[in-house]
Amino acid sequence: MFEVEVDETFAAGHALRHYRGKCENVHGHNWRVMVTFTGDSVDKAGMLVDFVEVKKSMNKVIDYLDHQFINDLKPFDELSPSAENIAKFFYDQMTSDLAATPSDVACKISRVKIWETDDASATYIP
Ligand SMILES: [Zn+2]
Repeated sequence: MFEVEVDETFAAGHALRHYRGKCENVHGHNWRVMVTFTGDSVDKAGMLVDFVEVKKSMNKVIDYLDHQFINDLKPFDELSPSAENIAKFFYDQMTSDLAATPSDVACKISRVKIWETDDASATYIP
């Protein structure tokens, strides 16, 4: 089994819905997101997945969220913009990119971990 992980950061604001406490108020984070790919084999170049393609896909999602108020953006205009839901959003968006990218090896996203702060993170595992 091989694993490839890519890390990125972005800054954005949010306000939790259906929640009573400080986090229902507008506030921001320097978010860190890590996407993990897994697969049983590598291609002739020795790669599970191309970092260039991964970063391109990840940066599409980050460009959408970076320096925005996440509550204004679909699907978070209805869905609560929790770290858990944002992790799943990365998974959903990047999985459709991955499916559209031709590859010799079977590779999937096995987890998306997102940190709101250095000591608080949420993970989506499909
Ligand atoms: Zn927050």
